[in-house]
Amino acid sequence: MNKDIATPIRTKEILNKYGFSFKKSLGQNFLVDPNILKKITEFAELTDQSGAIEIGPGIGALTEHLARASKKVVAFEIDQRLLPILDDTLSPYGNVKIIHQDVLKADVSEMIQEEFQQVKDLMVVANLPYYVTTPIIMKLLEERLPIRGIVVMLQKEVADRISAKPGTKDYGSLSIAIQYYTKAEAVMIVPKTVFMPQPNVDSAVIRLTKREQPAAQVTNEEFFFSVTRAAFAQRRKTILNNLTSQLPDGKEKKQQIIDILEEVNIEPSRRGETLSIQEFADLSNELYPLFK
Ligand code: SAM
Repeated sequence: MNKDIATPIRTKEILNKYGFSFKKSLGQNFLVDPNILKKITEFAELTDQSGAIEIGPGIGALTEHLARASKKVVAFEIDQRLLPILDDTLSPYGNVKIIHQDVLKADVSEMIQEEFQQVKDLMVVANLPYYVTTPIIMKLLEERLPIRGIVVMLQKEVADRISAKPGTKDYGSLSIAIQYYTKAEAVMIVPKTVFMPQPNVDSAVIRLTKREQPAAQVTNEEFFFSVTRAAFAQRRKTILNNLTSQLPDGKEKKQQIIDILEEVNIEPSRRGETLSIQEFADLSNELYPLFK
């Protein structure tokens, strides 16, 4: 097996060879611990028939583990300066393709059709750039890509919010948005010391397993998500107060909103954080005709 890219010594050698300086604005905190990379790769449960999509390969630390564990890897990297480095570090692996593009602007669905015809399943695996973790995850889920799931490293605080259950302080519209599409688990907490340079915050790995069907039946998804966002606009307010102040003409429709809350057995004095995804679905399905 080839020597790991991600030991601190080899990473420093590579960075020195190319005179590479980290760009904080691109969330560049590289992993320098092969054991953590091995674990992240194991959480993805790849086989030699799997495809892997990576976002932000950096100098290839995680990419090479994915290349060893899967049939093919395609990685999106925004920073042009990393391309010649990746060409060099990943040269032992014939099953890796790097695409120089901002993943948020990429047509990932088209890429999958072009690159992954021959795989049995597809996972997204990444150590995400922390300045755009939520937009990246939401893009991957909202585009309903044919993926089995997502295993990513991100800020621990965001991992806690994503995997939070109703009734907890971390539960909010982000938990619902992600758990609507996936089963979300925080699977590992990662210390700052395994990064170069070290980030200011603690990190965690989450595993999102795509549901065959969304967690609840919703008449209009856009409206469902706007109801969940409205319900958490001010956490200390009741669901009734948040809905009347956030939904269009909510104040004038207050009595109808109260009637609908009662119809779906939700006390108007409850707080948004106590409602399950199913309750939000029931509520938004009943409210929808009033606001469409
Ligand atoms: N995978 C490497 C590792 O674990 O050491 C690097 C991870 S580093 C946290 C994030 C990487 O994402 C950097 O290489 C950065 O240049 C890249 N990146 C940042 N924003 C991006 C974007 N919008 N699209 C694609 N790559 C991006």
